[in-house]
Amino acid sequence: MQRNSLLGWLRVFLLLVLVAILALYLLLSSTRSVDWLDPVQVRIYPINADGRDTTRRYVERIDADSFSDIETFFSREAYRYRLGLKTPVQVEVAPLIESLPPQVPKQASIVEALWWAIKMRLWVWWQDGWQAGDADVRIFMSFYAPGNPQGLQHSLGLQKGNIGLVNGYADADRQGINNFVAAHELLHTLGASDKYDRETGKPLWPDGFADPVKEPLFPQQRAEIMGGRVQITPGWSLLPPSLAHAMIGAATAIEIGWLGPAASEPE
Ligand SMILES: [Zn+2]
Repeated sequence: MQRNSLLGWLRVFLLLVLVAILALYLLLSSTRSVDWLDPVQVRIYPINADGRDTTRRYVERIDADSFSDIETFFSREAYRYRLGLKTPVQVEVAPLIESLPPQVPKQASIVEALWWAIKMRLWVWWQDGWQAGDADVRIFMSFYAPGNPQGLQHSLGLQKGNIGLVNGYADADRQGINNFVAAHELLHTLGASDKYDRETGKPLWPDGFADPVKEPLFPQQRAEIMGGRVQITPGWSLLPPSLAHAMIGAATAIEIGWLGPAASEPE
């Protein structure tokens, strides 16, 4: 009898913990919808990810100029889609962070994934402190010293919570690629989907190609931002050196609300 009631209480307690976790998750993962009437405010947080001297020297010199091609890219593409917003994305740089975001679990169960999402949101909230709250999207850019294989870890963008995690190299020559990846993850948070083959990494035709009806099709000259790479020959693709070699394709433009029946007929 007593044993039964103890088990009963335990069950209620576990249920309450579960409800609390879910409530916390929903509270911290609000999705902000973007209407493109005002610029999307993006805050980039540079992270000294491996603590090496080369990394430190690089991240300490980082300023708004280091990310200005992200704004330029979105302004140029918005003009092509006649968005009516000169600067659709505004980037600001947050103070340097010395701690790493919670590690993304590999092939996580639902509980592990949920637990990571909660840890991630608490970590973000902790980094922001009391002064933040006005950014629409937060991009955490982890810098590694050139040659450190951790710089090649997968980057990701979460639409829920509007967070992007970017891994890159602390090297001026690689900043163009870092910003390309940041723009890709930023677009995920705004509703865009990947347009490349997960097995091979190759961009998918036609949506993942910058010029899908080009004759001949190869070599492509630019990358569709969600396709992720420039397909040079049928078997060979490469990362573009910067956002100057990237564009937003029609499928991505539809997903983020830049293109559609309502947008093209302003009555
Ligand atoms: Zn992606």
